[in-house]
Amino acid sequence: MSEQNFDLVILGAGSGGYAAALRATQLGLTVGLIEKGKLGGTCLHVGCIPTKALLHSAEVADVTRESAKYGVTADFHGVDIAAVTKYREEIVASKFKGLTGLIKQRGITVIAGEGKLVSPTTVQVGDDTITGKNVILASGSYSRSLPGLELGGRVITSEQALELDFIPKTVAVLGGGVIGVEFSSVWKSFGADVTIIEALPHLVPNEDESISKQFERAFRKRGIKFHLGTRFQGVTQTDQGVVVTLENGTTIEAELLLVAVGRGPSTAGLGYEEVGVKMDRGFVLTDERLATNVPGVYAVGDIVPGLQLAHRGFQHGIFVAEEIAGLNPVVIDDINVPKVTYSSPEVASVGLSEARAREQYGADAISTYDYNLAGNGKSHIIGTAGSVKVVRVKDGPVIGVHMIGDRVGELVGEAQLAVNWEAYPEDIAPLLHAHPTQDEALGEAFLALAGKPLHAI
Ligand SMILES: Cc1cc2nc3c(=O)[nH]c(=O)nc-3n(C[C@H](O)[C@H](O)[C@H](O)COP(=O)(O)OP(=O)(O)OC[C@H]3O[C@@H](n4cnc5c(N)ncnc54)[C@H](O)[C@@H]3O)c2cc1C
Repeated sequence: MSEQNFDLVILGAGSGGYAAALRATQLGLTVGLIEKGKLGGTCLHVGCIPTKALLHSAEVADVTRESAKYGVTADFHGVDIAAVTKYREEIVASKFKGLTGLIKQRGITVIAGEGKLVSPTTVQVGDDTITGKNVILASGSYSRSLPGLELGGRVITSEQALELDFIPKTVAVLGGGVIGVEFSSVWKSFGADVTIIEALPHLVPNEDESISKQFERAFRKRGIKFHLGTRFQGVTQTDQGVVVTLENGTTIEAELLLVAVGRGPSTAGLGYEEVGVKMDRGFVLTDERLATNVPGVYAVGDIVPGLQLAHRGFQHGIFVAEEIAGLNPVVIDDINVPKVTYSSPEVASVGLSEARAREQYGADAISTYDYNLAGNGKSHIIGTAGSVKVVRVKDGPVIGVHMIGDRVGELVGEAQLAVNWEAYPEDIAPLLHAHPTQDEALGEAFLALAGKPLHAI
């Protein structure tokens, strides 16, 4: 039994928790970082990093199949899933080692074990009492299911999907959001027959509608099947596979059903309610400065309602550390957090969709420009179709950027700068975009909105 005291105690060492720890120690605070699993949390071990490794293997498979198109002689013999796993695990292990070293080097005290909030300043870990002048709740999220849909056997979540030691011949995917389409993209590239079920009218339904429609065309062209605007009714399992029934009577047979219907907050039984923290359906409610209603207790990352993304968690963590240190950091609204879907094709966006911009500013007050990647040399060279759409306020700033095409995720850096700095297209138009890059497509859209299109009619 021991008692340890810190300036700051953080419950959970995922993207949100460890970013807060790193920034807080930089600012001279002492930090106790409590983690029941592995430093790095979901993103590093079962989320962003391993899935992107899988997607890279998938891209290599596709490029190999199409190599003759580029004049390179190669035969595609298939995917060695054990080797893919080894590659994926090596990436994760290396990043984990780096993070563990960094946390040690910064002098952060890591407390291994399951923590429970027992007062506004205290977390209990087994027999040990950890106290802090401030506490950050950063316990993250888990793959959730639908009411009545039991996980297990051939009904799997993204965690089990990552660990599969075989490539399913057929797979049904429940949910056409980011996680669902990323796994669909991988499995299709690996040779599986994939069917997605999405209750909303579009795949990637949180994106600008024009992007969702292009995405659906691209997936259809790849032979990925999908049912939109129809709800899941039930699933039965046998030794061989699953039969999924939809409310419209359609049935889908597959080897596996991946349930990718979103992530719930990991907050049950952690003492938050008992200490008086205001919650809503398991999420921790905060003000825009990420403070809960209990003085000195903050929350970051996936347990705070809104986008569940690693870089939002990082930004939350940095923000709260700076807030506690009295630096008065700037609030970043969720709408201005960049989003990337890393499937083939990729989708990347930031800011308001055209529809939301029209609602918010009035249809006559905004203008948009849609640059087709067919006009972009680099996109043609790498063989991708797609578009870059920029939304601006007339005579005002850029308020949204929406992109689709292989590798467009790499363009979201410039897009988010434009939106977050409230740049006018006229400010950016004179700045250079290297040729030939896909970035030029963004440059062309800014030029066009500034009234001086170059490679566009
Ligand atoms: C398949 C998949 C792919 C994804 N891909 C991307 C992507 O490409 N880009 C992106 O931005 N985001 C992606 N995400 C989302 C991203 O992983 C999360 O947004 C991010 O991990 C949230 O960080 P967090 O700190 O809030 O929570 P987490 O990363 O979940 O960390 C919470 C930590 O708290 C620990 N913990 C929980 N309870 C306790 C307790 N009682 N005591 C001690 N420790 C505790 C957990 O063990 C965990 O380590 C993906 C997620 C998944 C599932």
